[in-house]
Amino acid sequence: MKPTRFEYERPADVAGVIALIRREDIAIKILAGGQSLGPMLNLRLVQPDVLVDITGIPELKRVEETADAIVVGACVTHADIEDGRVPDVTGGALPAVARGIAYRAVRNRGTLGGSLSHADPAADWVASLTAMGATLMIRGPSGARTLAIGEFVTGVFEVALAPGEILEAVRIPRLSRSARWGFCKICRKTGELAQAIAAVLHDPERSVFRAVIGATESMPVVIPDATSLFSGKPSGSAAGVFDSGAARGVLQASGMTDSIDNQIHVVALRRAIERAGLV
Ligand SMILES: Cc1cc2nc3c(=O)[nH]c(=O)nc-3n(C[C@H](O)[C@H](O)[C@H](O)COP(=O)(O)OP(=O)(O)OC[C@H]3O[C@@H](n4cnc5c(N)ncnc54)[C@H](O)[C@@H]3O)c2cc1C
Repeated sequence: MKPTRFEYERPADVAGVIALIRREDIAIKILAGGQSLGPMLNLRLVQPDVLVDITGIPELKRVEETADAIVVGACVTHADIEDGRVPDVTGGALPAVARGIAYRAVRNRGTLGGSLSHADPAADWVASLTAMGATLMIRGPSGARTLAIGEFVTGVFEVALAPGEILEAVRIPRLSRSARWGFCKICRKTGELAQAIAAVLHDPERSVFRAVIGATESMPVVIPDATSLFSGKPSGSAAGVFDSGAARGVLQASGMTDSIDNQIHVVALRRAIERAGLV
């Protein structure tokens, strides 16, 4: 199938995008890398009157490093992060996540903002940036606002963007030198979306010990204090002994009652914890 007919606009700046997308009398879609939107157009799952291409807007590709974070423009691609064109404030965590997304052709065009706005529960950035505590910067007709990623993603393919709003940038906190990060994505073959994702961040200097389980049937499962996943006493770099029963219980409580699905996610979590060097 091919898309229905649509008009194509390519504004030069964010103000121009907002002027277009605030219109409520017609169906409008923002086009970033097109890696998710393209198939949706071809399958006629979306039938916009106007497509607003945001890839030519310099503001959306800007990257700003501060003492405690990096702010990455929404149109920065997965490949930009993979290749180190974005300064890494996460000790290698961001490029490693980027490298695991799809194939290089998808990573060349797919954008950080597109992935988060699409909010596929299996998306690598949704789970990993939730674990990192990212904040999303949004702009719309009434100005700018910020939302924690957990408030931005509100459901399966659902985000808290109001009509006329665009995701402008993502603020990712700098990890402390002593921080430990572990990420695990389980998929049947390389280049596919995940069957299970787990991410763990232990950053005692910033009082963060968070685990996130992604690629669930809905939103990521966030464990704000991951000490609950360990039994025994912490010793050296180990946080204790990984308690798979506790992890299984958290997933069951979140609604993941299928035992195979539950087990795959527990395995992803155990591997992320091992990769973080916490056991
Ligand atoms: C074969 C294949 C394999 C893939 N595998 C993976 C994988 O393993 N892991 C993974 O995480 N992803 C995977 N993806 C998805 C990929 O990462 C896409 O890049 C991403 O989901 C969408 O980004 P995009 O820039 O292409 O957005 P688009 O497809 O252009 O847009 C997606 C949606 O977001 C909206 N949007 C885009 N940008 C903004 C913005 N700044 N503000 C508001 N709304 C916006 C669009 O209107 C649209 O609704 C895969 C895709 C393909 C085609």
